[in-house]
Amino acid sequence: MAKRDYYEVLGIERSADEATIKKAYRQLAKKYHPDVNPGDKDAEEKFKEVNEAYSVLSDPQKRSRYDQFGHEEPGMGGGSGFEGFSGFGSGFGFGGFDDLFSMFTGQGQTQRRNVPMQGDDIRMNVTLTFEEAARGCQKEINLSRIEVCDVCGGTGCKAGSKPQTCTRCKGTGVETVISNTAFGRVQRRMECSACRGRGQTISDPCSKCGGNGKIRTTKRRSVNIPAGVDEGNVVNVHGQGHAGENGGPAGDLQLVITIRPHKLFTRKGADMFIDFPISFTQAALGATIDVPTLDKPVKLTIPEGTQPGERFRIKGAGIPYVRSQNKGDLYVTVMVEVPKKLTDKQKEILRIFEESTTGKEYEKKKSFLDKIKDAFGG
Ligand SMILES: [Zn+2]
Ligand SMILES: [Zn+2]
Repeated sequence: MAKRDYYEVLGIERSADEATIKKAYRQLAKKYHPDVNPGDKDAEEKFKEVNEAYSVLSDPQKRSRYDQFGHEEPGMGGGSGFEGFSGFGSGFGFGGFDDLFSMFTGQGQTQRRNVPMQGDDIRMNVTLTFEEAARGCQKEINLSRIEVCDVCGGTGCKAGSKPQTCTRCKGTGVETVISNTAFGRVQRRMECSACRGRGQTISDPCSKCGGNGKIRTTKRRSVNIPAGVDEGNVVNVHGQGHAGENGGPAGDLQLVITIRPHKLFTRKGADMFIDFPISFTQAALGATIDVPTLDKPVKLTIPEGTQPGERFRIKGAGIPYVRSQNKGDLYVTVMVEVPKKLTDKQKEILRIFEESTTGKEYEKKKSFLDKIKDAFGG
């Protein structure tokens, strides 16, 4: 589905000022708010669209980037870039929107601060050798992540004690603050300052996590890299990211693959390439050569009269496709080497050979000489 232009979504001119944007947003947000349209999927989509547009256009920096790049700007759109609006129905409702919404309805989103939320993903670079990437491997990494505290199991309380319902917010995690602004008297719903939005306070905190319920750990662990991964691929390890909030699931661990160059091979996707030097006599007479592969060497027959730079394909001797039985191919480019430091005897043999030639042995040379004759007369 093509993304609609944010200005179009809010029904405003590109030159609209802040107040106009805010006004347009308020009207639309009110119209499409899920509390007003219970169960209406279309309204819900519109509501999300309006919120996304507003979150960009109300922020001068994001707006100017959007004006320049539109939806193409990395980090724009796609859901995760917008704090507070990414997980509609779960993490939804934090930050600016609640403040604004309570301005015109007096309603607020309560008890949404302590809903379960998925933890953040962790992105890590992993460097592999050429062979490790091709064959797959177990890789040891140092993983630093936020985990649920193993002593209190995430409650943050010392053994035998329990969290208490916060007296300031009565467990909602939200408190209402009234202030005077340019828009008049504004009711703002803020994260409760006593319990930091948790809805609970801890009188006797766990000694390991200090009542946080979570700890940062760094552990050595082994991750499984499938055979065939390529430079820049991302291997996702489900549930190994940071711990979730309020009992939500953990995020994922994402391993970004970098591959060290190989001494002999290069690759493009699942195909491998090798330059293989042969002697000029092998090229002229033909030969069978042992070509290295990732497994054992493979015999390749080079025909008589092979030219420098000629390329041969060994089918299925390349790299496996990820999670597949199929493999790419190995391309062998022959590099014909002209000998140096010949003995007198060897030179004599070559002179005899040269005298024996008629010119027909060399196709290119012959046709080149013919062209010279044509051009300059012979
Ligand atoms: Zn603890
Ligand atoms: Zn509280």
